[in-house]
Amino acid sequence: MPAQEGSGHAAPAQQDGSGYAAAFEPAMRLALAEAAAATAAGGDGADVPVGAVVLDASGKPVGAAHNRREATGDPTAHAEMEAIRQAAQAVGSRRLDGCTIVVTLEPCTMCAGAVVLARLARLVYGAADPKGGAAGSLWDVLRDRRLGHTPEVIGGVLGGECGSMLRDFFAARRAAGH
Ligand SMILES: [Zn+2]
Repeated sequence: MPAQEGSGHAAPAQQDGSGYAAAFEPAMRLALAEAAAATAAGGDGADVPVGAVVLDASGKPVGAAHNRREATGDPTAHAEMEAIRQAAQAVGSRRLDGCTIVVTLEPCTMCAGAVVLARLARLVYGAADPKGGAAGSLWDVLRDRRLGHTPEVIGGVLGGECGSMLRDFFAARRAAGH
């Protein structure tokens, strides 16, 4: 049965700074703090700074994680996957009905698929990813009705800050000759 959340009233993909979208800024600040932690190892061990937080239906954080591909050697250790795993444990269910995931970068196809499988009600992201985003940029997995669950999507929350954290990371990496 198709879920009702988000059906037919998805927010515009880019909406910054006011009203409904702004309500997710505190959670995005938590996700940005997670993203910053991804680079802590420095040098070749640093992970690309992406952070994610899962909020339960009341808005309480039940998962918070950052990208750990380099730290773990696991190609699937994206921030969203780790935060969703934590949330499922905290909630005690593989179904995260009513929950929201807040992530600093538009998800890839893997993570967008995980958002659908987890039945999350809503995805909030910061920076768009024109090269690989699966929440409207390159694909739109989350609003593809063939999958039977279409979470609400809100993009561009603190998008400037989220994007500049990534740009600064890659600029520093290039400057260091990586
Ligand atoms: Zn991903």
